[in-house]
Amino acid sequence: MSGAVRTQRNRSHLVSVETRIAPHGGPSTSDFPSRHIGPDASAAQHMLEALGYETLDELIDAAVPDQIRSEQAMDLPAARSEPQVLADLRALADRNQTRVQMIGLGYHDTVTPAVLRRNMLESPAWYTAYTPYQPEISQGRLEALLTFQTLIEDLTALPLAGASLLDEATAVMEAVLLMRRANKSKSATNRVIVDADCLPQTLAVVRGRAKSVGIEVLVADLSSELPNADAFGVVFQAPGASGAVRDLAPLIAAAGERGALTTVAADLLSLTIVTPPGEQGCDIAVGSAQRFGVPLFFGGPHAGYMAVRTGLERMLPGRLVGVSVDVDGQPAYRLALQTREQHIRRDKATSNICTAQALLANVAAMYAAYHGPEGLRAIATRVHRHAVTIAESLRAAGHQIMHDHFFDTVRVRVPGQAREFVANADRFGINLRLVDDHHVGISCDECTTDDIVRRVVAAFGATVTATPAAVSGLPAELGRTSKFLQHPVFHEHRSETAMLRFLRKLSDKDLALDRTMIPLGSCTMKLNSAVEMEPISWPGFAGIHPYAPAEQTGGYLELIGDLERWLGKITGYDRVSLQPNAGSQGELAGLLAIHGYHESRGESGRDICLIPQSAHGTNAASAVLAGMRVVVVATAANGNIDIDDLRAKIAVHEGKVAAIMLTYPSTHGVYENDVRTVCDLVHEAGGQVYVDGANLNALVGLAQPGKFGGDVSHLNLHKTFCIPHGGGGPGVGPVAVREHLAPFLPGNPLGGGDGGAPVSAANYGSAGILPITWAYLALMGPDGLTGATETAVLAANYVAKSLDAHFPVLYTGPSGLVAHECILDLRAITKETGVTAEDVAKRLIDYGFHAPTLSFPVTGTLMVEPTESEDLAELDRFIQAMVAIRQEIDLVGTGVWPLERSPLRQAPHTAEQVTADEWTLPYPRHLAGFPVASLRAAKYWPPVRRIDGVHGDRNLVCSCPAPTAFETPTSHTYTDTAANADTREEAFA
Ligand SMILES: *Cc1c(COP(=O)(O)O)cnc(C)c1O
Repeated sequence: MSGAVRTQRNRSHLVSVETRIAPHGGPSTSDFPSRHIGPDASAAQHMLEALGYETLDELIDAAVPDQIRSEQAMDLPAARSEPQVLADLRALADRNQTRVQMIGLGYHDTVTPAVLRRNMLESPAWYTAYTPYQPEISQGRLEALLTFQTLIEDLTALPLAGASLLDEATAVMEAVLLMRRANKSKSATNRVIVDADCLPQTLAVVRGRAKSVGIEVLVADLSSELPNADAFGVVFQAPGASGAVRDLAPLIAAAGERGALTTVAADLLSLTIVTPPGEQGCDIAVGSAQRFGVPLFFGGPHAGYMAVRTGLERMLPGRLVGVSVDVDGQPAYRLALQTREQHIRRDKATSNICTAQALLANVAAMYAAYHGPEGLRAIATRVHRHAVTIAESLRAAGHQIMHDHFFDTVRVRVPGQAREFVANADRFGINLRLVDDHHVGISCDECTTDDIVRRVVAAFGATVTATPAAVSGLPAELGRTSKFLQHPVFHEHRSETAMLRFLRKLSDKDLALDRTMIPLGSCTMKLNSAVEMEPISWPGFAGIHPYAPAEQTGGYLELIGDLERWLGKITGYDRVSLQPNAGSQGELAGLLAIHGYHESRGESGRDICLIPQSAHGTNAASAVLAGMRVVVVATAANGNIDIDDLRAKIAVHEGKVAAIMLTYPSTHGVYENDVRTVCDLVHEAGGQVYVDGANLNALVGLAQPGKFGGDVSHLNLHKTFCIPHGGGGPGVGPVAVREHLAPFLPGNPLGGGDGGAPVSAANYGSAGILPITWAYLALMGPDGLTGATETAVLAANYVAKSLDAHFPVLYTGPSGLVAHECILDLRAITKETGVTAEDVAKRLIDYGFHAPTLSFPVTGTLMVEPTESEDLAELDRFIQAMVAIRQEIDLVGTGVWPLERSPLRQAPHTAEQVTADEWTLPYPRHLAGFPVASLRAAKYWPPVRRIDGVHGDRNLVCSCPAPTAFETPTSHTYTDTAANADTREEAFA
């Protein structure tokens, strides 16, 4: 071992423990690492002793293979204090210039009601929650997401909507893919026709992504008729990017007659006063819910939406929330259909979307609930009035307005003067859209006032003319006549008090990081600190339009530059793109870069993507979307990649191997020793190495994928780098590459510059949440970050060692150690006793815990990832719960409790059940509700009992149920699953 490595290891260890031994509070030094890292020095010592190691260095040396260890410390700025980081971020925000944003193009300013900002967007009860895979502890956010679906269904007049997509441009691409899957008609070709008046970023994303899956895109002027060409689908934009409002019904009908499916990308606010796409006969509606209360955020995060007609629900991409029942027949929410099992479907999945935009979808839903249908209509009407006034005033001044019919956007023809007028508006503090030298676009929104209208008109040298109320920019026959948002949820929370309590009532039903550790393997649920979160709602970050001129966005561009550089230093790669707005999109961007590289070398025939059996489901789905064929590589008995099988697969596909996608450390939670060999074999075969970086929390400061064999990786900023999960999004999935792949990184969706196909509507994706990661890196510094990794490995090994005797740890490395997570194998226990991993997951709820990852990557197991943020007391509380559950399992095993009537199968227990007048189960009530004494001081009660997923899929309901659905005949006897089967059916009939 080289001296350099030794020194660096000693130093990182000393600093990471020392900061905890001697916390210093002065403003110039940072004690943040000791706040972020849960265990202090004595706790770490205790854990090391339990593992039989003297120092953290020794443990790390034993766990991490020498061949991948970094030679040098990370070249990152030293740790800064919390006040310093806030001051630095304030200075960056101040360098972004806020303007009245009237550029439009799918991004509109909006008022986030303070009650929602403070109690939802900025509330840890909402933003620290995980994706609702464990529905019993997620009823609040599932109800909010169901409200979002109902909102979208009502506004589009289509029966079924999903619980958010990543943004409008990618939602359109998902719709294109759905139309291709769904169109079984004989005349269907491989062509899609796309409205030339689609948003330019949508056209860019669709063009780039369609190419990789062999779809021909015909962009055509659809203002009066369809082009004379066959297609499997047609995409319209309503209103068009130009602002034009057209009656699409005749074209939709014409497309249908030709056997094409139809998608309308529709502006949600307009649908409160304009005929919705569902009533015009379309199959799919997509778009963005941003203007429903979600800040501009320099491009994201925002919720994309998709709604479909009946018959397409089983093909819907992303997540879908549905209503089912629990074992007592009470209505209960959970993820429906295929959206629960994308991981299993792998390359057969309907899309690669995993992390979506749950938090932002919830904000949009609550915005609609707060305003109600009349409130939304009033906003839309006001927006339209302002647009009409601008159009009439400019017309009166002799300017030509390009469209008679518009909603919020007016396009003015000003030959040769466009730049001058846009510059005038800028002087009045307003951003308009410079379409070209002769046209200016003006988009009104919720924030537009009479004074802003006056300034806009003045920028064109005109004055406001009084416009009679009867003058409208909308054709009378396109007025919306159907009702929407009739459900009580859109009527009962209009006062701030009512909304405040509604939000609290919902979040109280859920378990998030503000109440318990969430030991989800592969998901890295670590601290999302308050200081990291604070800046994101500052106007200097939240109020910036993604297409604002670069002179106005200097602060953002510097922050983005810093992050790209720092993430490069951490991973050992040369270039980083922050554009992908989830891990899945980073995977796609990385694979497209690989494809672009092969193509540039005349090797576009390489289309095989090797994927280990244990890989995350998104890997295979992304490979398919990048136009590759998936070949699975087997797992050896020790959990590692089977090298012999890898050699065999490479030989079979000689000359065809495009890439291998491997996760490191593997999803088995182990640092594989032979990763360099794997990389070498693929490189020798002419392939590229994609290292899925979702597990980077085991690597930061210790090893760099860009140095041990990777050509490209995506990172999950919403895992390793502290962006919260938001109950299922937002996320950021940067893609990092070595130099030779840099030319193929995602390009700017608005053109200009080079690069490959864009994968998001905004050049910097979910830029609005990048300050979180920037703050984390600045607060921790290189030593703090390394200390975090080391502590994460320590905690995982402590849990593994403490639980191994009770639940065998499935895989370990050569030294008997795991990486940052461990898989507990329940399969033998299940065989002996019938108690399943799911039973343990549900029983943990009674103990106040969120379950570990269930049955991924190995069926019948639990994968535990404690992270560095959990302190020793919380780790021990979890261990104690697991040990107690093991004792309960033994009582089933020895026949004391029949399985069906055991606390394990009956879990989770509700307060109603435990306090019912009759109790016939063979264990005491206190054991049901308070299995360990500490729960008496603080107890979480799940709002429903175990949920029947299959029932919900058979009786698919994906909008808010009528309140009467909850008036089930109350049975006061709580027995077991089977006994309640009948009432269950009745209750939901
Ligand atoms: C989380 C995860 C992904 C997907 O990331 P998303 O942001 O949810 O799209 C991919 N691979 C692994 C190993 C993961 O854990």
